[in-house]
Amino acid sequence: MPVKREITIGGGGLAGLALGIALRQRRIPVVLHEAGSYPRHRVCGEFLCGVRPETLTALGLADLLDSATELTEAVWFRNGKQMIRHALPIPGRGLSRYHLDHELAVRFRALGGVLHEQQRLLPEHWARPGTVLAIGREPDPSSDLLGLKRHLRDLPLEAGLEMHCSPGGYIGLCPVEDHRVNASALFRLRPEIKGPREDLQRRYLLACGFDELVGRMDQATPDPDSCAAVTSIPQGRLPRRLPAHREICAIGDRFGMIGPFTGNGMSMALESAALAAPLLADYAHGLLEWEATVDAVARAQRRRFSRRLLLSAVLHRALFHPVTLPLLTDLGRAGLLPMEFLFRQLR
Ligand SMILES: Cc1cc2nc3c(=O)[nH]c(=O)nc-3n(C[C@H](O)[C@H](O)[C@H](O)COP(=O)(O)OP(=O)(O)OC[C@H]3O[C@@H](n4cnc5c(N)ncnc54)[C@H](O)[C@@H]3O)c2cc1C
Repeated sequence: MPVKREITIGGGGLAGLALGIALRQRRIPVVLHEAGSYPRHRVCGEFLCGVRPETLTALGLADLLDSATELTEAVWFRNGKQMIRHALPIPGRGLSRYHLDHELAVRFRALGGVLHEQQRLLPEHWARPGTVLAIGREPDPSSDLLGLKRHLRDLPLEAGLEMHCSPGGYIGLCPVEDHRVNASALFRLRPEIKGPREDLQRRYLLACGFDELVGRMDQATPDPDSCAAVTSIPQGRLPRRLPAHREICAIGDRFGMIGPFTGNGMSMALESAALAAPLLADYAHGLLEWEATVDAVARAQRRRFSRRLLLSAVLHRALFHPVTLPLLTDLGRAGLLPMEFLFRQLR
């Protein structure tokens, strides 16, 4: 079928690059603008769980996770005490964004995609027909959440995924490639805690009472280049109703960000690309007009993600609350929390 229109993508994270690859497989011209460059470290737990093999195949990425470590068990700690140990109903994969995003960028270019690094897509272009916004979460200036990530070498873990919680914040530990462990944390911002980038996570962990964990981490070798921080993280809201999105086609975190503790954001980014690709291909072939395309992409994502986003928003609040966090973990310890059910509902 002749191609009549080009697609422009803003944002070369998982959603944007996966969409670009899926469209290039259909021989549709794609120009992608990425604000940063590759490879680079990002604040992300790097625990990927929930994306189905069919989704990866539809994106032309069936082998993407073959080299990633399979993770089958999770352990939850509260204030240093082990509370819940459970098998992961769906195994996860540990793979750094440093490696993953770079690999996707290489594949996109190899398929003939045009990728401009260090180039922002400016707001005046966002509503242009044929433009897809995959620029990550919409910053929430009212948020008091701080994300801090670093890699450590040779840190033995209790399970494929370790989650440590306190009302001041939580941290997830998961092995990635090259004998590294990703340590990604979300804290309530505390302006009195200051320090060099490399030491900030450690200082927050101590302030939250994670002394035992810090003792373990101090035995490992941190990679200072892997340290990254983000603020203004949305606190868990449903994406706005359709009319607000009518003129802008948004995918991935830009459509809606799920709580990082779910370990499902990367999967959602890939899923949203797979949902959007055939609709954007119809637009490129002249079978759909732009307004109908934007509407169809938003509807498909709402259908797939609304339940997850809602449940995650509720659980996110509970995890940060001084009353509900102990309640949740005590229930889990007593075997009264339907972990498998919740895990599946968040995917
Ligand atoms: C602390 C924390 C821990 C997390 N842990 C996990 C986890 O363990 N597992 C999981 O699945 N998910 C996790 N997530 C969520 C996951 O990182 C995101 O859901 C995922 O990265 C979303 O992909 P995306 O492509 O939509 O956005 P992003 O990966 O954020 O990519 C957006 C891209 O757009 C670029 N950009 C921004 N503005 C512009 C512009 N104007 N023009 C051009 N480019 C632009 C950025 O540089 C970036 O490369 C975590 C998130 C946080 C904050």
